[in-house]
Amino acid sequence: MRERAWLLHVRQSVFTRLVAIMLALATILLVLVFGFFLLYVGPLMNASIDGVVHEYIHTVAATAPSYAQAKEISRRRDVQTRYEGPDGAWTTADNLPTIAEAQRRQRRPFSGRHYYMTSAPNGGTYLFEWNFDERMRMAHLVVPWVVLLLIATVVFAAHGVLKRLLLPLRWLGDGVARLSEGDLDVVVPKRSADEFGALTDAFNRMVGRIKDMIRTRDQLLLDVSHELRSPLTRVKVALELVGDAEMKARMAADLAEMEMMISELLELERLRDRHGLNTSRQSVVPILADVAQTFAERSPNVRVAPGTPEIVADIDADRIRTVIRNLLENATKYSLPDSRPVEVSAAQNGDSVVIRVTDDGPGIPERDMSNLFEPFFRVDRSRSKKTGGYGLGLSISKRIVEAHGGSISAENNATRGASFVVTLPKPG
Ligand code: ADP
Repeated sequence: MRERAWLLHVRQSVFTRLVAIMLALATILLVLVFGFFLLYVGPLMNASIDGVVHEYIHTVAATAPSYAQAKEISRRRDVQTRYEGPDGAWTTADNLPTIAEAQRRQRRPFSGRHYYMTSAPNGGTYLFEWNFDERMRMAHLVVPWVVLLLIATVVFAAHGVLKRLLLPLRWLGDGVARLSEGDLDVVVPKRSADEFGALTDAFNRMVGRIKDMIRTRDQLLLDVSHELRSPLTRVKVALELVGDAEMKARMAADLAEMEMMISELLELERLRDRHGLNTSRQSVVPILADVAQTFAERSPNVRVAPGTPEIVADIDADRIRTVIRNLLENATKYSLPDSRPVEVSAAQNGDSVVIRVTDDGPGIPERDMSNLFEPFFRVDRSRSKKTGGYGLGLSISKRIVEAHGGSISAENNATRGASFVVTLPKPG
């Protein structure tokens, strides 16, 4: 299964396609060059060589070389000679055919060998053999291997060059993945001034703009929250003048909710960095048990996972309590009538401490996962109206956890419900 996924990935990769295109181009080029040589240059050269050799043979024969001279020629030029005539018969190589035999076969070359026959000045006949075809055959045997080796070298080199060339694309991909996970500090390194360089610049500028927009939004929230405090205080004073007790109680409840929202928004801003924290080395499990205890009357129950080991972390205990309370509040609030108890657990995992709150509620639609921790986000506004809350709990929890140098995420369980996972750094 994994092998098939890998194959699919390789087949769909731009990198593979580029290598395939280069390979196809190299093959086409080779075929063209081969074809050109085989159909045009080869015959032309053969005809030309044949003509020159004929001339050479005639000239040599005209000098009526003796056996010794023919032997000397064969040593220098790889040309064997047989003579048959009035001066007797001799040959420089035993495997040469006799003149009569050569005459019989004149129309067909002997297994690719070239024989040239010409008459000697004294009436005899010379038979020359030039072993050129044999050498060509050897060359033809070697050429395919050389070509294969060349293609392999080209593919290997192309692979390396393309890999280097497409590196910025990989970096950009990583950058986009990090951005989609909410990391706004991502800066993709720029290595070249080409199209990839321009794309990298554009990406980095876009991240900067998104960061600015988010900062402006947060600042706006902060300013509005600040500005709302004084009119709210004035309304509270004015509320004392309302005579109708029922209306007064309703308005007081609304005012309290608004005050709560504003103080949470201001808290959100204070938690922007580590400075807002008051950390000390604490045991995590007693904190979980403590907060779980406050949910004792709730349905479904909240229980600390049995066997949770003793774990310490450098935390602001009050703030972490707020996180756990928010998560447990949600887990119980969004549970269903037949839901199993909510479970909270802590574990040590490599370099981090992992706190997990698991419920058996309706879970979270996948499309909302990325927005869950945004301020004022609620999955189902009509449902939230009934359950109360205005979508700040998770964003505050996220800020607290991130101020600790940790992270928080949500996932749906395999069976039913959702799990919220808080990861905190282990004390060094
Ligand atoms: P709220 O005050 O509305 O609960 P939160 O920020 O705590 O605000 O949560 C945001 C939204 O996430 C909620 O409105 C709810 O739709 C969804 N949510 C949070 N926790 C859970 C959970 N355990 N199960 C299902 N949905 C959840």
